[in-house]
Amino acid sequence: MKVGRRLIEVSNRDKVFFPKGGLTKGELVDYYRRAAELLLPHVRDRLVSMHRFPDGIDGPGFYHKDVPDHFPEWIHSERVEKEDGHLRQLVIDDAATLVYIADQGCITPHVWLSRVDRRDHPDRMIFDLDPPGDDFEASFDAVRWTARRLRELLEELGLVPFVMTSGSKGLHLHVPLDRKTDFDGVRGFTMGAADLLVARHPERVTREHRKAKRGDRVYLDVMRNAYAQTTVAPYAVRAREGAPVATPLAWDELDRPGLHPRRYGIGNLFRRMSQKEDPWKDMDRHARGLDEPARDLKRLREDAGSPG
Ligand code: ATP
Ligand code: MN
Repeated sequence: MKVGRRLIEVSNRDKVFFPKGGLTKGELVDYYRRAAELLLPHVRDRLVSMHRFPDGIDGPGFYHKDVPDHFPEWIHSERVEKEDGHLRQLVIDDAATLVYIADQGCITPHVWLSRVDRRDHPDRMIFDLDPPGDDFEASFDAVRWTARRLRELLEELGLVPFVMTSGSKGLHLHVPLDRKTDFDGVRGFTMGAADLLVARHPERVTREHRKAKRGDRVYLDVMRNAYAQTTVAPYAVRAREGAPVATPLAWDELDRPGLHPRRYGIGNLFRRMSQKEDPWKDMDRHARGLDEPARDLKRLREDAGSPG
């Protein structure tokens, strides 16, 4: 397959990767080639962890961080220090790399919340909203209700949140930042914001990590706001039946009756995108600092009577 300047040999195109719909590895590769233009702005300059399923979603899957020696030399990687040495981690610069890793069985690229040039200072803040129970469609109304309340709070604090389906069970909110605050500062802020939301709506939202204790409340997870943590890339395919895609939404789309976390996938994403632009296209222009929002949050929390 010719992608840009690269010639990529795609193997086993007919191998079924998503058994229920009979979707193949070839269809996964074709999706990433076509989605590259949408996806690249959201992954460029970020370290990537590949969620690989060499035999499709019914086979074993693993997160793969280091770029193996057999990857071609044109694949971009960056040195990352670890406690016990270092590794070379993938950076996706072009459509060819997306196609190449899809051929390697990478169904989902996950990315850091910071960029390679300032790894301690995230340019994204993320809130992960997980539904209660196992029936993610039945509980979706609770998840979107929570997303709206969180949006209101973040806007009250002067920030500009964006929303997407996770392509799996819930929603993610991303907030663009100016990179003046490091991960510890950002995480502290998200914990405070999440605590305030829980204080406002204790019967509907929780930060309780243990599933059994959540009851029918939506779980608001902020712990991904940390160094070397990853989150699913916008427009990435998930390892779920039907090949759903993590799909950025405009806020008014959240009200649509038929919406659910797997509403869009490789079978209907391009029909959607033929009618609209990427709702997250201008995200970086809305980057803000946290100094003032943090002061405002502190005051709101004092008013609400919650500690810290
Ligand atoms: P869902 O809607 O089902 O919750 P999700 O993508 O939000 O989908 P979570 O289980 O909530 O999935 O996890 C959030 C994120 O954490 C994932 O998108 C992924 O990037 C990251 N993650 C989870 N487990 C791992 C892991 N073992 N290694 C690396 N990253 C992981
Ligand atoms: Mn989640």
